[in-house]
Amino acid sequence: MEHISYFKLQAKILLKDYKTRYFNEEKKFYCYHPNHFDIGGLFLYYEYPDQDENFSFTLMNAQHLIAKMVGYDKWEDLIHASESEQELAEFLLNRFRDSQDIQNWEETLSFTGLDRYRTEAAESVLEYARQYYELEEREQIVRLPTDRITVLSGKQRKEALMQFDDEHNPSGLLRTDSVVYCSHCRQSFVFSKSKVIKDKETNLTMVVCKNYPNCKNTYLDLKVLTPTILYGDERMKILEEDIQGRLPHIEIDSKVRCLHCGEEYSYKEAKVVFSPDDHEEHIHCKNYPQCDGLSFDLIKVDD
Ligand SMILES: [Zn+2]
Ligand SMILES: [Zn+2]
Repeated sequence: MEHISYFKLQAKILLKDYKTRYFNEEKKFYCYHPNHFDIGGLFLYYEYPDQDENFSFTLMNAQHLIAKMVGYDKWEDLIHASESEQELAEFLLNRFRDSQDIQNWEETLSFTGLDRYRTEAAESVLEYARQYYELEEREQIVRLPTDRITVLSGKQRKEALMQFDDEHNPSGLLRTDSVVYCSHCRQSFVFSKSKVIKDKETNLTMVVCKNYPNCKNTYLDLKVLTPTILYGDERMKILEEDIQGRLPHIEIDSKVRCLHCGEEYSYKEAKVVFSPDDHEEHIHCKNYPQCDGLSFDLIKVDD
């Protein structure tokens, strides 16, 4: 079931990317500003007539496209596939961003002859996929024999986790205090409890599931369950978008009052929070999470 909700979410994200469609007057072409998938490239690859003025793309169509991306003819086939086939599909979807990724994977699969086993022996295809995608040395560490590995503690461990701090990871969704879910051990935990391992030979480090060595998932496989406060450029972009067309007109440094906590401050101090439930960014009072005021609770006041 978890796999299916993941597929549904990916379809929603795909649809959201589609909704950034606009007509580029210069190029005389429909273009996109997608956040996740290269939707224009996918349409081209799967021969969708998205350059037609009357082209429409619904959630159902998005689900269909998700199924195609991972090698199924129909959405129904994907959601009725076996547990290990779905695990493979989720693993791949996690890595597919554009048609080139898909093409590379399909070519590799057919080159090795493994495409014939996609359904009968999905587990070995998954094992192969893991190897294929973990060709980067760093990601391979987790598969090394444990006597080659040191599990770090203290300062070294802290340093490795630091890359997920607000300061070092301003627009990232995975933070040290995020609650994450590991699909392999089916457990959720606070990300700061993750293990950090080091290869004794190469000295490369990797952040892995807290249940390593029993679980071989890396941080790349963990799903973030907690809302995440965004910082940096991403945050400013969302704030700027929100003030477009707001009445009464408001500027990025307009003074606002929060109807919930009563505090007055500059609009640009508001928090931008990414919700893992709907995969959308929401604007909250600057006192989030103590105050539950949202964007429309921030009313312009005259200084
Ligand atoms: Zn795990
Ligand atoms: Zn407030």
